[in-house]
Amino acid sequence: MRMDYYCAAKFTDLQVHVQARSLYNCCRAYPERVDLDWLESNPGKLFHTETMVSDRKLMLENKSCQSCHHGCYKYEEQGLPSMRRLHKGQPKINDPYASLKNIQIILSTDCNLKCVYCGPEFSSTWQKEIQQKGDYILDGQSITGDNWSKLWSKMKQKSRTTESKFFKMLLKEIKLAEDIKEISLLGGEPLLNNQLLDIIDHAQNKEISITTGLGVNDKRLHSFLDKIKGNKIKFLVSGEATNKYFDFIRYGVTWLDFAKRIDMITKEGHEVQFISTASNISAFDFHNFYNKYSDQHQIEINVLSERPFLLPHVLDEKSKDVCRKNLDGLGSKANEVLSFLDKEPSDIDRKNLGNYLKQLSRRRNISLTFLPNHFLQWCGFDITN
Ligand code: SF4
Ligand code: SF4
Repeated sequence: MRMDYYCAAKFTDLQVHVQARSLYNCCRAYPERVDLDWLESNPGKLFHTETMVSDRKLMLENKSCQSCHHGCYKYEEQGLPSMRRLHKGQPKINDPYASLKNIQIILSTDCNLKCVYCGPEFSSTWQKEIQQKGDYILDGQSITGDNWSKLWSKMKQKSRTTESKFFKMLLKEIKLAEDIKEISLLGGEPLLNNQLLDIIDHAQNKEISITTGLGVNDKRLHSFLDKIKGNKIKFLVSGEATNKYFDFIRYGVTWLDFAKRIDMITKEGHEVQFISTASNISAFDFHNFYNKYSDQHQIEINVLSERPFLLPHVLDEKSKDVCRKNLDGLGSKANEVLSFLDKEPSDIDRKNLGNYLKQLSRRRNISLTFLPNHFLQWCGFDITN
């Protein structure tokens, strides 16, 4: 099969990890480290590093680049969905020096939650769990405190000077990049970070969105909403299931608190859009989430890439039939989830899923009885009826 390697996001989107001083072009691509000296002598070039420009040139010659192989191509080669599908149909950009349109900023990995498909590289609470209880041992997919999370913790211990120097440079870059349309603030949990308000102050007339799991207490959320009065901010809220499914997937915040906080935000007049991560666990309950929120809020489907054993197709046939019945007729977003179910699961993914759920329920002391018996049996639980 001949691949079309072009992706518009390479020419418009940049993700910046402030704490780790890394640049991702785009969010799914492999990162590069910011050279502060280079940036100091090349102001306004944050989106035009040597690597980014050469990757764009490769794309325009319809050649694979390493950073996108990591982010998308390798999944597509296995017949899996990738984030690239969201950028299909956008007008083609032929200039490798095109100007930045969308910047996503990760301020830190501080987060109070341990979402089921997250990990120590993204959430400080996940990091703590791995430090205290050890790695999750899985076949080829272990979740460890190595690599990124160790790098992240090292960054935290470094003097704050470098981080704040980069933060100041970033604020300047935002000012210089006049064509930026949207600034997206990500985490960890951005609502825990005080630098959030600095960025909102520097955003001038640009659109601002905050991606949140709402893992903050009501008092902090209330005070934040007070401070941003007069700004129109879009909240991109992570959520895809209700009740016990929600509590399990978004471990650290309860469904009731989540629903209450959504009301707090909408009452202040801010737009709420949901980012629903399609997984095998959420596939059982996505229809309930959809029925609750789809009338009033937009719902976008996010595709997992880091945990193959949690992908929606890693289900037994009976579970797939249940999910298909629940999702049938709900509309285009449900159809997206439905289309992910068809692929056959591999035996390794099935076993890893069972082992992951066993280790996770043991260390977090969670009962899995809310999941269907046939599903648990299929992935290796000893269920006696
Ligand atoms: S191909 Fe994937 S990783 Fe590369 S820019 Fe597009 S969406 Fe991002
Ligand atoms: S809220 Fe975000 S960063 Fe925190 S655990 Fe969940 S997915 Fe990870």
